[in-house]
Amino acid sequence: MKLDVNALRYLTKDDFRVLTAVEMGMRNHEIVPAELVDRIAGLKHGGTYKVLRNLLKNKLVHHDATKYDGYRLTYLGYDFLAIKTLVNRGVFASVGRQIGVGKESDIFEVATEDGTVLAMKLHRLGRTSFRAVKSKRDYLRHRRSFNWLYLSRLAALKEFAFMKALGDHGFPVPTAVDCNRHCVIMSLVQGYPLVQVKELQNPDDVFDTILGLIVRLAEHGLIHCDFNEFNIMIDDNEKITVIDFPQMVSVSHRNAQMFFDRDIECIYKFFNKRFNLTSEKEEEQDGSESDVEGNSRPSFLSVKKAAGSLDKELAASGFTRKEQVEMDKYIDEDAEGHDSGSDDDDEEEEVGDAVPIDSLKIDQDHSDEPDCNLASRDSGVPGTFSEEHGTSCCGENRLESSPSGRNGDAKEPLDSEGKMLSQEDEDNDDSSSDDDDDEEDAELTKKLNKQRKKAIAAAHGRRRPVSSRNAYKDKGKGTMNSKIQRQACKW
Ligand code: ADP
Ligand code: MG
Repeated sequence: MKLDVNALRYLTKDDFRVLTAVEMGMRNHEIVPAELVDRIAGLKHGGTYKVLRNLLKNKLVHHDATKYDGYRLTYLGYDFLAIKTLVNRGVFASVGRQIGVGKESDIFEVATEDGTVLAMKLHRLGRTSFRAVKSKRDYLRHRRSFNWLYLSRLAALKEFAFMKALGDHGFPVPTAVDCNRHCVIMSLVQGYPLVQVKELQNPDDVFDTILGLIVRLAEHGLIHCDFNEFNIMIDDNEKITVIDFPQMVSVSHRNAQMFFDRDIECIYKFFNKRFNLTSEKEEEQDGSESDVEGNSRPSFLSVKKAAGSLDKELAASGFTRKEQVEMDKYIDEDAEGHDSGSDDDDEEEEVGDAVPIDSLKIDQDHSDEPDCNLASRDSGVPGTFSEEHGTSCCGENRLESSPSGRNGDAKEPLDSEGKMLSQEDEDNDDSSSDDDDDEEDAELTKKLNKQRKKAIAAAHGRRRPVSSRNAYKDKGKGTMNSKIQRQACKW
């Protein structure tokens, strides 16, 4: 998906107000009635409708008149909300070129005010298999207002939580900087995906390091589940960095052994094919590795899973088991069946490009607190997260709060009935959920609060990595900074 951030320049305060109103409405409606958007946005003189037409023209919202006149966010609209929040928070100031495209994500360079280049990953679950996502509605039916943005936000949330925890435990992963909605900001890895590397000076060492990582991860209670040459970055000094965590599972997962073996197998296969290494290693290793215990290959059963329990730590603090289960279901179903011939009309607009809009003014909102991450889940879209509103720390779910919160002259956000929203109202927003959910939600909220505090502390400490990313070499293509300067859109 092409992300034309120039369009952001031209979005007005009212554009964002209405876009945010649609997002808020999506907490309770898959398709938000235009009238409700208008009530939430509170623009004078029918302004909302005019703005909606503009947003629609620019593919930031999707119009649906099947049952009633309504709107929902597109990925592009969601991108803009996340980017705006992060820019206002000072996390970065410009967006550069796209540096990666995954099956269900887009990765861009972003630069901070001081020129530090970071990576921004926008999750796009369902992009390639929208029908598969639709089928998720089945298992998520107890949730209200499920839509694809929910899974993307879940993926981002999980990725951020795992990246942070892994980094804290000394694993070579990008530094988790911040997260909002479906967007994760992390340090830019100074290297290339292993798949692009044709030659290594020390293939044995790299091979051992990578296998060692899989084992160490398992010792900490986790399996990457997509540990392959696409998700391992390597730099000129052959130092590796692991990326891409949304699919990670605990060693207590019912298929843990299979996932572990598959990760190992991927590495063996790749090194065998690319560096002709495996057969030698198979003979050589002969139990000398601590994790091997007599087998040439690291075996799941022999891994001592006592060294740590990151899986539990994560389940207890950030990304809950419940959410893990939902992600697992998504991953499982996604693997099962893609219907590539989908002609679903949703698909097209979800990947739609932006085109320039009129004028941008990014207002300062009060999101100086790096809500990120875990707390940001209440910022938005899918009703699924509305139960966590108690954990909000920056009120992104409030309408461009800035005007309202600060100047006092703008309207407060309204709830779906058109009442003014108080925090309490927001907390109770999902009161119609079944009891089970309520209980779990209370627990979830508690856990989230805890994790949020941790995440905020961490984000404060790590917001601007001081190590210069400027030194990054882009193999003959100039430095990242020059790229950024050429392509960035300065706000
Ligand atoms: P997906 O989940 O869609 O596979 P990944 O996280 O694996 O997404 O990222 C896709 C590609 O983007 C990677 O192969 C890599 O080239 C690039 N990429 C991702 N994260 C970073 C990063 N932090 N620094 C540099 N490049 C990155
Ligand atoms: Mg990947």
